[in-house]
This record gives sequence, structure tokens and C-alpha cells, in this order.
Amino acid sequence: RAKASGRSTYCFFSPEMDRQAHARLRLENDLRHAIDRSELCLHYQPQFDARGRLVGVEALLRWPHPQRGMISPAEFIPIAEESGLIHPLGDWVLGEACRQVRQWQRQGHPEMRVAVNLSVRQLQRRGLDQTVRSELRRSGLEAAYLELEITESSMMEDPAGTMTLLHALRGIGVQLSVDDFGTGYSSLAYLKRFPLQRLKIDRSFVDGIPDDGDDIAIVEAIVAMARKMNLRIVAEGVETGAQHEMLTRLGCDEMQGYLLGRPMAAADMDALLARCRTHRAEADLSLGA
Ligand code: C2E
Ligand code: MG
Ligand code: MG
Ligand code: MG
Repeated sequence: RAKASGRSTYCFFSPEMDRQAHARLRLENDLRHAIDRSELCLHYQPQFDARGRLVGVEALLRWPHPQRGMISPAEFIPIAEESGLIHPLGDWVLGEACRQVRQWQRQGHPEMRVAVNLSVRQLQRRGLDQTVRSELRRSGLEAAYLELEITESSMMEDPAGTMTLLHALRGIGVQLSVDDFGTGYSSLAYLKRFPLQRLKIDRSFVDGIPDDGDDIAIVEAIVAMARKMNLRIVAEGVETGAQHEMLTRLGCDEMQGYLLGRPMAAADMDALLARCRTHRAEADLSLGA
């Protein structure tokens, strides 16, 4: 009997699954070491307003793995979430993003803003507002220049808890935005009561612009709703001039995407910002002339 049940249990494990479990465990260990050795870094993707001015950046985690090359956050964030590593990692991201953008502000971009992504696990842990407060204090960044991005689905996992947390965060003075908007199932009743400043229209809708009538209708509806709720609209994943043109026409306030700038290392952002300053100085000169 034991053998029979043993065999039926055995059916659930294939060598393939065993291999996957091992690979995963290995990745978790690698991630733990990478965090200990400060091997992860942040890339920054620029965000532009309708007049084409660089108004902010989104901080995006990168893990250059010694053997496997660059590993996507889509692959390692879930591992970080399940293992609890998301907490030290998330705290580091907050601190590093604030420090870096404060530095860029000091170099001549005083209004520059940084957006940081938060995992649902970070929302669930008590004390996030205290962490945000202390990272702001440590970096010297003013709260208004930090934006926290939370996906629509994370917000809706525990709407009542989210409500309390968002009010605490908003009380600090940071900005709050809904990431990947349109892909979750929002209760509009909650959305209206959350103290939000921005909606980021998910890339999947931007993809179909300007040809797909349904996507156009969806973007129009989101923009109309956002206007009524006093929210600014950011379109993410803008890859073509045609998308940019139509999204501007539809009333999106800000754009982010490969067309305008890929996520880049801090040093490359330094160079981009230096070009912005030169350009600005030249524009000032020509105005003065
Ligand atoms: P997200 O917050 O929605 O970030 C936007 C993703 O779209 C980024 O992928 C970015 O590189 C990519 N992207 C930007 N413009 C374009 C474009 O024009 N076309 C296309 N095809 N893609 C574009 P990435 O960097 O791989 O990040 C994936 C996700 O991982 C993020 O989605 C976010 O949910 C998560 N993530 C990244 N960094 C962090 C972090 O520090 N903490 C947490 N909790 N999650 C993070
Ligand atoms: Mg984001
Ligand atoms: Mg997004
Ligand atoms: Mg996403």
C-alpha cells in the first residue's frame, strides 16, 4: 500500500519540475548574495510632458548576473516577493532613487521627479510610511519629488488597507500613481476615494494606437475619467511617433517609452541631462538675442 501511494505521489514530480525547483532555489540564493554584495543597480527611464520637457524618471531595477547576464525584474521580483527579499531590496531602491535624483536636482534640474515601483508585499508590511519618511530625510529629497507607483491590481488586493496606507503616504507629501492602469479590476468607488495624482495607461492599450479603434476608445475613456477625478495621465510604452501624436491629441499629459528614451544607467542619464542643460542654455541665449 505504501508503495502504491508512494508511486501515485511520485506522479506529481517530473524531472522537469525538479529541475525548475532547483533553478529557482539557485536564483533565490544568487539574489540573496547579489543584494548582500550590492550587485543590483537602478536604471532610469525619462518621462516627458506634452511640451517635450523632461519632467521625471522612473527607477527600474536591474540585476547584472555574473553568469546569466542581465536578468529582468519580471523574473526576479516574484522570487524576491516570495522569499521576503523584496523588503531589503525595496528599501534600497527607495533610498538609492531618492539619493540619485537629489543629486541631479543639485546639478541643475531642481524640479526633477523620481518614480519608484512598490510591490504588493511592501504595501502589506507595516511601517512603509516610516521607511519612506526616513529615506527622504536621509537623501534630502523633498517629498513632492518622489512618486510611488503601485499597480492597479496591488491596490485592489486589500482596498481598505490600501486606503489607510495611501492616506498615510500622501500625508508625507509624496505623489501616488496607479501603474499598469486598465489591466486590473478597479472598483471605481475606491479609485475615486484613493488620494491619487496620476494614472499610467498600460502599454497594452498604447500598443494598438493609432490603428485599433477599441484601444482608442479605451484611452479616451480613461482620459475623460481621469480629468473628472483631477488625475494626470501618463502613457507608458510609447514606441512610435504616430502613437505619440495621437496620445497627445487624446489628452495624455506625459509620455514614457522607447521612442523618447530607454531605461538607462545613471551615467548615461548624466550625459542626457548635460545635453538638456546645454540645449536649455542655448534656448535662453536665443531668446535673449
Ligand atoms: P512597470 O513599472 O510597468 O515598468 C515599465 C516597463 O516597461 C519596464 O520594464 C520598462 O523597461 C518597459 N518599457 C518602457 N518603455 C517601453 C517601450 O516603449 N516598449 C516596451 N516594450 N517596454 C517599455 P522592466 O524594466 O523590465 O520592468 C518590468 C516590471 O518590473 C515593471 O513594470 C515593474 O512592475 C517591475 N519593477 C521594476 N523595477 C522595480 C522595483 O524597483 N520594484 C518593484 N517592486 N518592481 C519593479
Ligand atoms: Mg512602473
Ligand atoms: Mg507600468
Ligand atoms: Mg508592469
